[in-house]
Amino acid sequence: MLYMLPFETSVEDPNVLSEEIPFKNQVLEEHVELEDMYDPNRGQYKGRGYLEVCSKRGEKLDDIVIGLTDHDLFTGHLNFIFGLAEKDGKGCIISTHRLGDGEKMKERMIKEAVHEIGHVVGLEHCSNRRCVMHFSNSLLDTDKKSKWYCRSCEKRFESLLKKRRIFLDY
Ligand SMILES: [Zn+2]
Ligand SMILES: [Zn+2]
Repeated sequence: MLYMLPFETSVEDPNVLSEEIPFKNQVLEEHVELEDMYDPNRGQYKGRGYLEVCSKRGEKLDDIVIGLTDHDLFTGHLNFIFGLAEKDGKGCIISTHRLGDGEKMKERMIKEAVHEIGHVVGLEHCSNRRCVMHFSNSLLDTDKKSKWYCRSCEKRFESLLKKRRIFLDY
């Protein structure tokens, strides 16, 4: 099961992803304490903290938990991140803070989610600029890529999903 875990997000319907991502999808409603995640020196939030919460929330082999927040996230040496995933794990987090607004934001958010889900099941970055697994350094990169995996990533994605007993619900 794919779970959406909204953390202070202005996205009105976090379930919007279910239109694009063919998994069984459910929105979780729970309160998560975010105080420790804020870094007052940077005025940003710690991506790792959110990621841990999401990963812990996944219980079964086929669980993937996608956190969604408006907060501006950073991690390690990266000044900001659009998203972060636990590779071969259960969770990922995406931030809409730098994704603009309106329809464009929705589209970018979907790309980021599909990208991070790819990492969660074990995919690496892809050199194909049109592939959703291409690394985005800027919104320009995000806008260039499509909302789905290239053929070779898709093949790998589907076989990785089978190992976790996740079945696409097209
Ligand atoms: Zn990535
Ligand atoms: Zn690819």
